Amino acid sequence: MTCPMCNNPSTPTICRTCKRQTAQDLAWLANNCDDLEHYRLNRAYGKHAANSGGGRRTEAPTPVREAIYDALYVDRYRNLKQTLNTWAMCFSQPPAPEGCLAQQARILDGLDLWTPGKTAASAIYAAETHILVTRLCAILANMDETRIHLGICPNPECARPVYAAADAREATCAHCNNTWTATILRRATDAQLCETDAEGTAGELALMLDQVGIEVAASTIRSWASRGKLMPILDKNGHATKRYKLTDAYRLTDTYRQQHLD
Ligand SMILES: [Zn+2]
Ligand SMILES: [Zn+2]
Repeated sequence: MTCPMCNNPSTPTICRTCKRQTAQDLAWLANNCDDLEHYRLNRAYGKHAANSGGGRRTEAPTPVREAIYDALYVDRYRNLKQTLNTWAMCFSQPPAPEGCLAQQARILDGLDLWTPGKTAASAIYAAETHILVTRLCAILANMDETRIHLGICPNPECARPVYAAADAREATCAHCNNTWTATILRRATDAQLCETDAEGTAGELALMLDQVGIEVAASTIRSWASRGKLMPILDKNGHATKRYKLTDAYRLTDTYRQQHLD
């Protein structure tokens, strides 16, 4: 027998590390889900003071909202609502509706998750929950940034990422102190996006593009895929996955078209 989560062979059942990790993840969800489901999504839907002057990040840009919404409710492969509710069902607990996921995490945390007969099921849903918590943490960290990655410093000796406010016309590289216009940085970003090996789901790609100041909704990326304009990455059996190459998605954006007019 090994630990069903990490396959640690020195334990006959769930190991102490995985148990502690699961408790931490559920506590994180209990503390952050209300913020995510109510405040962050509402803020993302534009329920904020107009002209607050704080720049674009005071309202969550569309891709961030999409990424939160995906992870919480709609991602077909793995979303938080489904994961927590299926897990709760194993313990004959009712499913939680949208808006009540913090409470569901609290209920799960109060159950004897690792009782014999339930350990195998809990191990599956605890592992899924951990992946989702990691993803949500990354989204929140991104949302709280105030500056965006405008591009790569064109100084060949430097080539570090340059950050500035989203609407800046020029930016100074924090490493080599050269000042570049946004246009030059855009061109450098374009070259980088045309060559990258990065890949991800529609939600993840929207977020990556947003980080370099290109706003494309995840739903737009999904519609490109469903219309056959964006080809999915194939798994080793040749079946389509829900993942796409960043470079392919970028080539379908207006930004790419503007960069390659001539
Ligand atoms: Zn373990
Ligand atoms: Zn530089």
